[in-house]
Amino acid sequence: MTVNLLDFERTGFAQFCAGLGEKPFRARQLMRWIHQSGVDDFDAMTDISKASREEMKKLAVIRAPDVVRDTTAADGTRKWLLNVGTGNAIETVFIPERNRGTLCVSSQAGCALACTFCSTGRQGFNRNLTVAEIIGQLWLANRQLGRSVETPRPVTNVVMMGMGEPLANFDNVVAALQLMLDDDAYGLSRRRVTLSTSGLVPAIDRLRDACPVALAVSLHAPTDELRSEIVPINKKYPLKELLAACVRYLDRAPRDFITFEYVMLAGVNDSTEHARQLAKLLKAVPSKINLIPFDVLMQKDFTVMVRRTRGDDIDAACGQLAGQVQDKTRRREKRAAIATA
Ligand code: SF4
Repeated sequence: MTVNLLDFERTGFAQFCAGLGEKPFRARQLMRWIHQSGVDDFDAMTDISKASREEMKKLAVIRAPDVVRDTTAADGTRKWLLNVGTGNAIETVFIPERNRGTLCVSSQAGCALACTFCSTGRQGFNRNLTVAEIIGQLWLANRQLGRSVETPRPVTNVVMMGMGEPLANFDNVVAALQLMLDDDAYGLSRRRVTLSTSGLVPAIDRLRDACPVALAVSLHAPTDELRSEIVPINKKYPLKELLAACVRYLDRAPRDFITFEYVMLAGVNDSTEHARQLAKLLKAVPSKINLIPFDVLMQKDFTVMVRRTRGDDIDAACGQLAGQVQDKTRRREKRAAIATA
């Protein structure tokens, strides 16, 4: 049986090479060829002996998900639909800006958490992505975007904000994060890798210990009552517990603030009163708030970023990544049944 080398982080490469009787430096060479040079052909690895390459070919492949569709919006935002088998497809989005290129990476085929505003949530959940399917999105994007002398690595920032709740696929996501940070792979700094969660409190604490990258939290409401409606996981991990976990996380975080995402839903969470409640709620947490044009918050000395929604014309804006999912939760059928009852 062959293994996919995109599934391995550093330890996996070391074990694979040790199994072949290779010296430890071979693992580093392999990682660099695959992740830094984007190579998927063992014959291109010219500093590895032919005999070793032949052995590797018998045991391993280097394979990212296949591209089903590749679309570029007028503003340069590029979206790939990737086949991850058995009727499931995921989406990856690249957002070019003047000084950086940000890749939005998916972590699950679908999502079980059912946030009301989210296209992925409406599709239900099928399965967690493997390490190869997660890191494969970055590997593929760097290859497809093309390297040049000016931009040897087109992707400079990663946000785990695509389809799925990344902390619900903890082990595979952490392995992929470690590759993103590894100097023999992508060498991104922790500040340039952001994980966005809907608020799985115990997993936020685990991430703090395992791989503390920058943290973003999908907040979307300033009270438990409203948030439980919009982000149902709030019933299990209410705001007080969530914000306490955010404060604990800051001890280890690469940035001295937590980013809070707030999708403004007309007439639902966007009143002046909501803004006041939000300012009060976040008073004790060093925060940046994404996507909020509320004057009230600005007056309260919060750093407020109004996120430019990029790639609207190809459905790549927040909460619009949909892909295609074989729904194990049968959420769509249940919704349809309610609608026709
Ligand atoms: Fe899942 Fe995130 Fe969508 Fe909520 S917003 S349903 S956690 S993908």
